Amino acid sequence: LRITISPLEDEQNHIVGTVGLFRDVTESERLEQTRREYVANVSHELRTPVSALRALAETLADGMAPDEDTKKRYYTHMVHETMRLTRLIDDLLILSRLQSDPHAVQREAFKINRLMADVAERYAILAGEKDVRFNFTLLSEDVVLWSNMGLVEQVLIILLDNAIKYTPKGGSISLYASLEEDMVKVSVSDTGIGIAAEDISYIFDRFYKVDKAHATQGTGLGLAIAFEIIQRLGERIVVESHPEEGSTFTFTLSRNPGPGIKSL
Ligand code: ADP
Repeated sequence: LRITISPLEDEQNHIVGTVGLFRDVTESERLEQTRREYVANVSHELRTPVSALRALAETLADGMAPDEDTKKRYYTHMVHETMRLTRLIDDLLILSRLQSDPHAVQREAFKINRLMADVAERYAILAGEKDVRFNFTLLSEDVVLWSNMGLVEQVLIILLDNAIKYTPKGGSISLYASLEEDMVKVSVSDTGIGIAAEDISYIFDRFYKVDKAHATQGTGLGLAIAFEIIQRLGERIVVESHPEEGSTFTFTLSRNPGPGIKSL
């Protein structure tokens, strides 16, 4: 609670009383604190690849790379750092667009089986490249949803990218859906490294990475974007995970009828 006391003066500048202003600042201060932390995080995350790029470029420019092989490696590092920077900027743009425009969600009718089959086709190949098995099960009934296909696809991509990233060779990943009376539940499950109990409540936070040393390729923004999308769609996402056994992320898609589609 912030209390501001100011003197109350009359036209001749005589103090005739006091005015007290009471304001609950806890909420606004908390928001301000979160904003400050976020800006600090963004700056830090952007600075890391930029510093690496600069060090590599300077070494090359000064002719300090001892041989051609080293030069080549430095150029490759530079390409990777640039890609990381691009990913980070893209993710930040997606997040800020989602947050700044509350009316951004346009709804359309689409078949969930079709979307899942489409995404599964691509991920079966990506998983295969890493020697990870990929299973998928469609709904037996072809349900038409009234939601945003592009955004649902983005959530699937984030969850499947993570499933592949955090599942070692020889493991498996599953994409499946189940039908309930008023909703479809979509799950992405893996037999990967899992998430410890002390980390699980933070993984949807921006920039949170469980193992900072090993997660250098990630931005720590994927799940934050997925969470934001799910919220925008008015849906829910949950995770169940056991270290060294695997993780299952499940989100809902309500079967709310679109305009012109009469509910039964
Ligand atoms: P990142 O870009 O680091 O993958 P995310 O926001 O997508 O960022 O995920 C946050 C963190 O949650 C990851 O760094 C990882 O530690 C953990 N995580 C996410 N998905 C999985 C998974 N399927 N298995 C194990 N850990 C996961």
